[in-house]
Amino acid sequence: MRLWIKDPHAILAANAERGVVVEDAEIVECVPRGGAPSLPAEATFDASRHVVLPGLINAHHHFYQTLTRAHPAGEGKALIPWLVAMEAVWGRMTPEALRIAVRLALVELLLSGCTTTADHHNLYSPGLENAVDIEVEEALKLGVRLTATRGSMGISQKDGGLQPDAIVQDAETILEDSERVLKQFHDPGRGAMTRIALAPCSPLAVPKKVLAGSAELAKRYDARLHCHLCQSPEEDEYASQAFGKRSVDLLEEAGWLSPRTWVAHGIHFTPDEIARLGQAGVSVCHLAAADMAFGVGICPTRELEAAGAAIGLGVDGSASNDSSNLMEAVRHALLLQRLRYGHAALGPYDALRWATEGSARCLGRDDVGAIAPGMQADLALFALQEPRFSGAQDPIAALVLCGAHRADRVMVAGRWRVVNGRPEGVDLETLIARHRATARGFA
Ligand SMILES: [Zn+2]
Repeated sequence: MRLWIKDPHAILAANAERGVVVEDAEIVECVPRGGAPSLPAEATFDASRHVVLPGLINAHHHFYQTLTRAHPAGEGKALIPWLVAMEAVWGRMTPEALRIAVRLALVELLLSGCTTTADHHNLYSPGLENAVDIEVEEALKLGVRLTATRGSMGISQKDGGLQPDAIVQDAETILEDSERVLKQFHDPGRGAMTRIALAPCSPLAVPKKVLAGSAELAKRYDARLHCHLCQSPEEDEYASQAFGKRSVDLLEEAGWLSPRTWVAHGIHFTPDEIARLGQAGVSVCHLAAADMAFGVGICPTRELEAAGAAIGLGVDGSASNDSSNLMEAVRHALLLQRLRYGHAALGPYDALRWATEGSARCLGRDDVGAIAPGMQADLALFALQEPRFSGAQDPIAALVLCGAHRADRVMVAGRWRVVNGRPEGVDLETLIARHRATARGFA
């Protein structure tokens, strides 16, 4: 069916003042000012109330953490003690709890205008061996595009690491299951709803064999590589003591400095490391809320972009953000980056570019992240009828500057998944009630 999304109030696309035509899962035409669709549309959606953006793309999250937001065990702690305290809580995760956490996170993201998301699942306590399977099932049901990253932690407290013994796995198990989920779920093609990436928690959390083995598997299956990298200065102090090397060197040794890799946070780099990451085509997911929450520093986005690294955005886990609202994350990123570089250095359109094209590059996708013919029909439509937008002159900038946080309509692969601010096919009240009841088990 050819649907004309007609006469938007504003749209973040070139030559599309009269809207876009969507056919099946794709955008087939942008309609310029004064124009009309080249073929008659079979249906029309009046978008005159809406600001239309490409569907936002979340390049880093930990869905299971939606069950432990605003948790007293973590409050007031620095990053590493926070992680240690929270991992003791997350160790109680069950498949049933994970499923409801994932569903809630995906709905929360959708409602904020997100159409594609990554999730870094690194919790494999006994019983959670099929965590990726659960995530994929839930994302397919809701119609959200997912890059499920098969996370891993391989160095536990008994080997001098930080993680409790119960939530880590040995190298063979990690690599075998990584290959299983790649074979079972990874779709590298255009328009894919499900992709798999391999994601050791950080270069310091797994043996070298897992880093190198993941790089080899990713190459073989045309998949991507992901990890946390240099969020706090303590990480490289630890790396130097434990491995005699810095984190970036460990990644390089294992074959990770390539365009296949995107990293989360990416704050504490030397100028030489920034140059090497940029030259290799590594992308960086900026996670402003979590970095502010822990006071760990500000991602050097300008230097990274100048060196050739793409910048994407993410919300990060809901125990550190503590929300999964990607539209809010765009605003956080803009304000935090202006704190570092000044008002003139970047604007709302830069932050929106990061949350769309930049995040698409993080996830290695050229079929989402922009509104143009041939791209997937992933759209986020915001209405400006709230007091917070009244008086705004530039409607697109207003979404970022005035703090949009809830999309009115969201389309993924040509299907409406949010209508009138409500997720399609989901009883929101029941979902929240079940999620809250499940969260009581993590108090
Ligand atoms: Zn994270």
